[in-house]
Amino acid sequence: MIQTEDMEFAPRVISPENTVEDGDTEVSLRPQSLHEYVGQDKVKEKIAVYIEAAKRRGEPLDHVLLYGPPGLGKTTLSSIIAHELGVNLRVTTGPAIEKPGDLVSLLTGLSDNDVLFIDEIHRLSRPVEELLYPALEDRVIDIIIGKGPSARSIRMDLRPFTLIGATTRAGQLSAPLRDRFGVIERLELYSKEQLTDIVRRSAMILGIPCETDGAAEIAGRARGTPRIANRLLKRVRDFADVLGNGQITREIAAIALSRLEIDKLGLDSLDRRMLTMIIKGYGGGPVGLETLASAIGEESVTLEDICEPFLMQLGFLGRTPRGRIATRLAYDHLGIKPPDSGVKDDGQLSF
Ligand code: ADP
Repeated sequence: MIQTEDMEFAPRVISPENTVEDGDTEVSLRPQSLHEYVGQDKVKEKIAVYIEAAKRRGEPLDHVLLYGPPGLGKTTLSSIIAHELGVNLRVTTGPAIEKPGDLVSLLTGLSDNDVLFIDEIHRLSRPVEELLYPALEDRVIDIIIGKGPSARSIRMDLRPFTLIGATTRAGQLSAPLRDRFGVIERLELYSKEQLTDIVRRSAMILGIPCETDGAAEIAGRARGTPRIANRLLKRVRDFADVLGNGQITREIAAIALSRLEIDKLGLDSLDRRMLTMIIKGYGGGPVGLETLASAIGEESVTLEDICEPFLMQLGFLGRTPRGRIATRLAYDHLGIKPPDSGVKDDGQLSF
């Protein structure tokens, strides 16, 4: 993977992507059972039934597609599913399966009812994806042996298995691939209460003394994302050790988070730059995503995958067919006076 200097040396504290810094702690903080997995109740209830049914029949679970922004627990849920089914989990990513042969060795290496987890499944190459279709549908794989005119294709049976695909961009999945998943679930951003539970649980595992108010302060600024909540917990611990007696209180958490330039609602400087540009540069919008991205010198995928889900959940940003708009709430939060003509409820300026 090509990393820019920025990503390598100064990842945003609130980037929901996995970073080197998350490292081993991320693994130790992963819940092991559905019971420990906080939130996502509707998804959990359904998955629990499917797991029980598959176990009773002695069959593999149907193929599952999990989608939603990064850091919401897709990988964690997959490992819980494998654990609860009592089978092995093989983890890989779309871009790592470079050639059809890589997929063949992954699939033929599975034991009965094992789970194969493919993260970023929207990034599979076309030949690999096409090889996957019969594997998912009929549990067979077509292998080409030899080259040129003497090449022939042989069909191989596979053991029963479950594919769990994860993606941040379900819209980019081809229809034939999407149609081969029996279970398609979207993970939602977490509430402040759920994130408070996650922070308290993580603090306990890491042996960090943390008051409930302190956990709530961190949770409130973690933009609905467990990975960010856990990362902020570790940063706030540093401040608690240096500025206090190691105990995370609301006050210490608030000081630490403002030093990290994360405001009361969890917006960081990029979120603020994005909204300010829409308001000051484009009169509140609508402005196209690409135009906006180049105006603030960011990649459009970063804005789309990371800033937008959160800003939309807060009701600060609207998407219209003509582009992005800042809502009245965004003006208020940034302390910018809306134009005299006002901003309509949907964020559109009315003239
Ligand atoms: P994704 O695969 O969606 O990017 P992960 O499954 O890697 O996200 O989750 C990131 C981290 O967040 C995990 O290490 C885990 O500690 C924590 N986490 C995610 N979801 C939950 C949850 N529902 N309850 C508790 N912790 C969670």
